[in-house]
Amino acid sequence: MVTGMQGQTEKEQGYNPKLRIGVLALQGDFAVHLRMLEHLGVEAKAIKLPEHLNEIDGIILPGGESTTIGKLMIVYGLHEVLQKKIQEGIPTWGTCAGLILLSKATDNALAGQPLLASMNIRVRRNAFGSQRESFETDLSVPALGEAPFHAFFIRGPSVEEVGPEVEVLATLDDGTIVAVREGTLLGTAFHPEVSGDLRFHQYFLRIVQGVKR
Ligand code: GLN
Repeated sequence: MVTGMQGQTEKEQGYNPKLRIGVLALQGDFAVHLRMLEHLGVEAKAIKLPEHLNEIDGIILPGGESTTIGKLMIVYGLHEVLQKKIQEGIPTWGTCAGLILLSKATDNALAGQPLLASMNIRVRRNAFGSQRESFETDLSVPALGEAPFHAFFIRGPSVEEVGPEVEVLATLDDGTIVAVREGTLLGTAFHPEVSGDLRFHQYFLRIVQGVKR
């Protein structure tokens, strides 16, 4: 029997170690996501060119600077192909800048900033302003179980509006939405890759597994 992390079986983990997950690797915090995926025992692939998108089962758009990542997507010929792949249903998780790229509408977007416009939400870039540009907090995320998820916000966006098909996974104490799911699209306004807590990555892998099955 195939076992993955900590000797767990595939059934216990909820995903197959043969899953291949791409991480958009143009700018930002992609290296840590790649390491976490490897740690979870799946195949992790850095996506820099359109051909890298072939034969992956899901993709993570990391945090970083959405304006830069967007421009680089155009330069490397990834923008249209990736947008099409998302429309066709590849499970996609946007974290922070990645969430901005995924959202259908962005307040405070830079004029002409390229976006993937795939998830039925409206976000606000740099929502927490200069005073609270970066902060950390314990979030209650019922989809991950009872233990709170320690979340790092690094000049992150807020989710201002969600479509009827969007599930809210977590909010701050003041009600600000910071984690969402729309079918096989997942979005987090913070950086789940820096907390050492693997549960969000595992959650995404189960979403990918659900599609693969
Ligand atoms: N402020 C960044 C942006 O607008 C996002 C920050 C991040 O990803 N940590 O793209």
